[in-house]
Parts: sequence; C-alpha cells; structure tokens
Amino acid sequence: MKLICIGRNYTDHIEELENEKPIDPVVFIKPDTAILLKKQPFFIPDFSDDVHHEVEVLVKINKVGKHINRKFAHKYYNEISLGIDFTARDLQAKLKEKGLPWEKAKAFDGAAVIGSWVDKKQFEDIDNLDFHLEKNDTIVQQSNTSFMLWKIDELIEYVSKYFTLKIGDIIFTGTPAGVGAVKANDVLTGYIRNQQFFSIKVK
Ligand code: ZN
Repeated sequence: MKLICIGRNYTDHIEELENEKPIDPVVFIKPDTAILLKKQPFFIPDFSDDVHHEVEVLVKINKVGKHINRKFAHKYYNEISLGIDFTARDLQAKLKEKGLPWEKAKAFDGAAVIGSWVDKKQFEDIDNLDFHLEKNDTIVQQSNTSFMLWKIDELIEYVSKYFTLKIGDIIFTGTPAGVGAVKANDVLTGYIRNQQFFSIKVK
C-alpha cells in the first residue's frame, strides 16, 4: 500500500510557508515503512533539528480505481481518519532550494501517523469537518475541511489520473496553518470535532 500526500491544500498554510499557490495539487508519496506503528512514540530523526507536525484528514481507499471521476469518487472510500505528515523542514528547505525530491524530508521511517478509522457515515458532510491538533494540551492547528482548495472527491479524481488507487491506500489531504517544530516529550493529540483520533509522544 502507499500513502498519497497532498501539499499546499489550505491557503493559510501556503501563506505561512510563503509558497506559491499551486495550479494543480502538489502530490508526493510515502512508502508503507513511513507509518508510525500503533502505540509507538515518534523519535525525532538525527538528520533534522526542525521536524514539524502537519495534521491532516485521512481517507482510506476501499476499491481499486484509475481515472476516477469526482462524481463517483465517494464510492471509493468509507473511512476517514486524522493523522500527521511529519516533515523535516530544514532538510525539505535544502532539497526544495536545489529542486530535488522531498522524500528524505517527508518519507522517513515513522513520518506518517495514522489515527483510528471511523465510518464516514458518522459525519453528515465530510467537506465540512472541524479538526484540530493539540500539543501538550494547547491547540496549535485548527481548521475545517471546507477550507481545502481541492476537496476529497476532487483529490481522488486528480491523483487517480496518475496512480492506480488500491485497497488500503491512504490519502493525506494536506495541512492547514499552524505547523511547527516538535521536541522530546511533546504529546500530540488529534481530534475531528471532539473525538480523539490519535495521541502520540515525541522522543
Ligand atoms: Zn502535509
């Protein structure tokens, strides 16, 4: 399985990193080895001094598909979660500067936190979901899926033009503003509405 990640999908985050607004979604992939195993702490890798949390809504693909029209995209997922796209920001900045791929900064072991899954039917409208991330009980990122530049069904249409989506693939739908560095002993807890989806300790 693969993790398909979307960059620059919330205007406020594009502005905080002073990135250009993309014409198309920014897409990158993490391998399954990037998944942080359940109940494990996140260890800050020794090649970075500036690992950032990016909280993101996740979608799990439940059917094989290619060239999926956005009108039918809703048939390709039943479950929603929340996770973190950990990013070694210092390394990413160096790679971006040189025009090199971001993988080392984004796809390293443990860089993908995946929360618990819930049936999307639990929510009347997945394009209007409040979610937030707390760091040591303080809210650091907070948004609503209605602020996505490309909504979930549009993202599925777009990424399936390039990649066959397979059962179990997960889409990370992009992060809103408020990304920031983590340090040892931080605790990161993610919520959609008032429901907790993950809680992880940083080491
Ligand atoms: Zn991200």
